[in-house]
Amino acid sequence: MRLQDNPSLYYAYFHFWKVVPVLIIPETANTHLNGIEQEMGKFRQQFLLEAALDLKASLAKENIDLILLKKDENLIPTLKEICNAYEIEHTVTSYPRGTYEGNILGALCELTAVFTCEDDNLVAMDELPFTELPKVFTPFRKEIEANLDVRDMTQKPLLKKFKDCHKFTDSFELIQHPKHPNSAFPFTGGEAAAHKRLNYYLWESKSILDYKQTRNELIGENYSSKLSAYLALGNLSPVQVYYAIKDFEAQVEKNDSTYWLLFELLWREYFILIALQAQTKIYSPQGIQNKKAKSYTNNIQKFEQWCTGNTEHPFINANMKEFVATGYMSNRGRQNVASYLVHHLKIDWRWGATFFEKHLIDYDISLNWCNWMYVAGVGNNTRNKVFNPTLQQERYDPENAYCSLWNGSIGLD
Ligand SMILES: Cc1cc2nc3c(=O)[nH]c(=O)nc-3n(C[C@H](O)[C@H](O)[C@H](O)COP(=O)(O)OP(=O)(O)OC[C@H]3O[C@@H](n4cnc5c(N)ncnc54)[C@H](O)[C@@H]3O)c2cc1C
Repeated sequence: MRLQDNPSLYYAYFHFWKVVPVLIIPETANTHLNGIEQEMGKFRQQFLLEAALDLKASLAKENIDLILLKKDENLIPTLKEICNAYEIEHTVTSYPRGTYEGNILGALCELTAVFTCEDDNLVAMDELPFTELPKVFTPFRKEIEANLDVRDMTQKPLLKKFKDCHKFTDSFELIQHPKHPNSAFPFTGGEAAAHKRLNYYLWESKSILDYKQTRNELIGENYSSKLSAYLALGNLSPVQVYYAIKDFEAQVEKNDSTYWLLFELLWREYFILIALQAQTKIYSPQGIQNKKAKSYTNNIQKFEQWCTGNTEHPFINANMKEFVATGYMSNRGRQNVASYLVHHLKIDWRWGATFFEKHLIDYDISLNWCNWMYVAGVGNNTRNKVFNPTLQQERYDPENAYCSLWNGSIGLD
């Protein structure tokens, strides 16, 4: 969802004389456990719509109507109607990362020729320096770092006027939910907001210079980049972030922290590739490992206590309360609550991944499911790390500031 550095958009406008822009928006979250749709968390939905409407407004300024379509049972018939009405022969889109996107593309393949572009990646897939993707991250990172060849950014294309007369577009109601005053993620969706955040984190506040020291903190807007949701929705490309960091390093300073943000982008890259390779295995209990699946007790009451932040552990509760109240949780928090669900409560990791999918503003199919597999010990692990929430709380919330913020003044709810 962006105009700048968008290979699909560039390809479409460069190669075809008429372009009909269509954006498909999910209103529900899929659950990969039983195929039933679940309601999407309100903060995730709001951010998604903000981003979509921002793109629509940007295109409207160029005399272009963006057709917004709901991802529901009418989607494929409507796409067919659009193809017929505008005599569409080619579809250009991002490389699909999820099964549902793949299915939509499958249906489009029957109507038009389809071209996919790698809009989400840092390194082009056919330029990866391996024949087989390493099973763990470190060899992947080392090999990529030694051969890093990031593509040039694409220009904003010369856009061609298109009027849809609102015949096909679905309407969406953007509901503005008040942001929690303690939210670490009080940002708005959209391309302009994404650049504002990137600019602030690097150039204005220079918070990036301390990223390696602050990234495990829990309170506030600037302990980490908060770029995840913009990357997940494509309001920013990883290529743009990469060049912004390189630019900053050249003009201001290069240190361990600036490197570490790039390091995290490589985790993102790795999980995108792992998920593409693993396909639907990422939703299976044994993940991508060929071991026998663990047995879980799956106590529903304990799961509900986890979801609502009412477990026996204040550190877990604080994180879950923040999550439901804002749609965001720090990486430290995510690792802890996931580990607690799987290893302490003995609940199927996929229940947790599904709950995250519902609420996370930065939900990304590959990052969510691969991180959950990792914590559950069924992903790209060499060892199975179990977090001790008491020690984690002592280390990362020594003054009880975070637990007090979300659980009440004494940090014990
Ligand atoms: C169980 C679990 C589920 C997660 N689900 C998601 C998800 O759905 N979407 C998502 O974007 N991130 C997910 N993460 C990864 C990580 O927690 C978030 O990317 C990060 O907290 C977002 O905040 P930030 O942008 O400030 O991160 P920063 O620390 O500033 O990191 C910069 C960027 O690097 C990437 N990154 C950081 N950590 C990771 C990681 N562990 N794996 C892969 N890429 C990473 C992200 O794109 C992030 O925006 C998950 C982590 C866990 C443990």
